[in-house]
Amino acid sequence: MNIPLTSNPRVIIIGGGFAGLSLAKKLAKQELQVVLLDKHNYHTFQPLLYQVSTGGLEPDSIAYPIRKVLKDYTNFFFRLANVEEIVPKEKKVITDIGVLKYDYLVLATGSRTNFFGNASIKANSMVMKTIPQSLNLRSLILQNFEKALLKSDLNERNALMNFVIVGAGPTGVELAGALAEIKKGILPKDYPDLDIRQMQINLVQASDRVLPAMSEVSSKKAEHFLEKLGVNVWKDVRVLDYDGEMATTETDVYFNTATLIWTAGVKGATIKGVDDKKFLISGNRLKVNRFNQVEGFEDIFAVGDIALMTEEKFPKGHPMMAQPAIQQGKHLGDNLLRLMNNKKMRPFKYRDKGSMATIGRNKAVVDLPKFKFQGVFAWYVWMFVHLFFLIGFRNRVIVFVNWVYNYIRFDREARLIIRPYVKKVKNA
Ligand SMILES: Cc1cc2nc3c(=O)[nH]c(=O)nc-3n(C[C@H](O)[C@H](O)[C@H](O)COP(=O)(O)OP(=O)(O)OC[C@H]3O[C@@H](n4cnc5c(N)ncnc54)[C@H](O)[C@@H]3O)c2cc1C
Repeated sequence: MNIPLTSNPRVIIIGGGFAGLSLAKKLAKQELQVVLLDKHNYHTFQPLLYQVSTGGLEPDSIAYPIRKVLKDYTNFFFRLANVEEIVPKEKKVITDIGVLKYDYLVLATGSRTNFFGNASIKANSMVMKTIPQSLNLRSLILQNFEKALLKSDLNERNALMNFVIVGAGPTGVELAGALAEIKKGILPKDYPDLDIRQMQINLVQASDRVLPAMSEVSSKKAEHFLEKLGVNVWKDVRVLDYDGEMATTETDVYFNTATLIWTAGVKGATIKGVDDKKFLISGNRLKVNRFNQVEGFEDIFAVGDIALMTEEKFPKGHPMMAQPAIQQGKHLGDNLLRLMNNKKMRPFKYRDKGSMATIGRNKAVVDLPKFKFQGVFAWYVWMFVHLFFLIGFRNRVIVFVNWVYNYIRFDREARLIIRPYVKKVKNA
């Protein structure tokens, strides 16, 4: 891997997401050798992936080169590598570019889509966890309309214009809202010879409300906003299967659709070697103590989505969101430095800053620990917070300018099929 030997302890961080990067910043310029490994050479700002999928933002504006974050840190090494296995007994990681020994290892690998064991849904649905996946979705949405134009068979045409989003958490809600806005403002102009009124956006939720992790008042308001935008909200409907053409549910509801987008769950992105059931807890997350140490190890830590830490206020672990990842990363940085200086580590305590979701122009819901609000002000707060946490000044400027432009012009100019998506109906 071409990493020099050093007398300083070596910390390997796997993952340059929210948790990994906030930890890395804390370890900068310390008497440590830090090696950051990621299978991408960029950090992805996942909260805005849905805007890439719907042509509102260019992918580059929500990605940031990891090497640029680390460029001034002399004690740092970045390697573009997929970590395949961890061997705790030998204190080493095995990657697709070689093997490296560690003194301390930090897993910040985030999460991956959870299909709850349904192979057919996994094989045939679209997901939105990475930029390439979002670009696939963007292409598919646009290709569907290009194809629909050519279909004389009404059922086939309608299936191409029927979108089913499974899971009404923030991702599903935001995507449904964005699709509804395209339906209203863009597609009728782009496809004047297609009856866009036939386009259906279905948001399907297994439980009895959208945004179940938010307050009831925000759920209700979000549902109201969605319905105002023309989204069909299906509650208490659990999707059972999807063969690439038809989605069946536990009820008598079914959907003939060419596009099913699965946003119904995530699970920890574990790695072989620490994926033994004894380390894992619900949602495939690694059980950690209040110092982020993985249960059973003193030298292996986990932060962010992959880590499950319980606190009195969070008996099921912290929410799989950016804030716990950022806070845990920073805190572990402090603790590792304490450890180096033979000081006692301090337990982590999550500062809940609330949650929010946007449904569309002037429509958002915000739950802060002390109060909740919805509507236009919430939308401004949502935009401000997202701009603030986006990495890189250039990205902030580009996203801001895009948002202003889209707002004034009712437009989304990145509706481009740059890399056509080849959809294969697969029998799982
Ligand atoms: C579509 C979407 C919308 C979201 N919206 C919001 C929101 O509005 N607000 C919010 O707070 N949260 C939101 N989240 C959740 C939030 O993005 C995550 O909680 C957060 O990214 C977790 O940070 P992390 O550092 O743990 O993992 P990540 O940010 O996912 O980073 C993990 C990194 O590890 C790398 N990696 C993984 N496995 C390996 C391996 N084996 N080898 C090498 N590298 C590896 C990945 O490439 C990645 O760079 C959203 C998530 C998604 C998918």
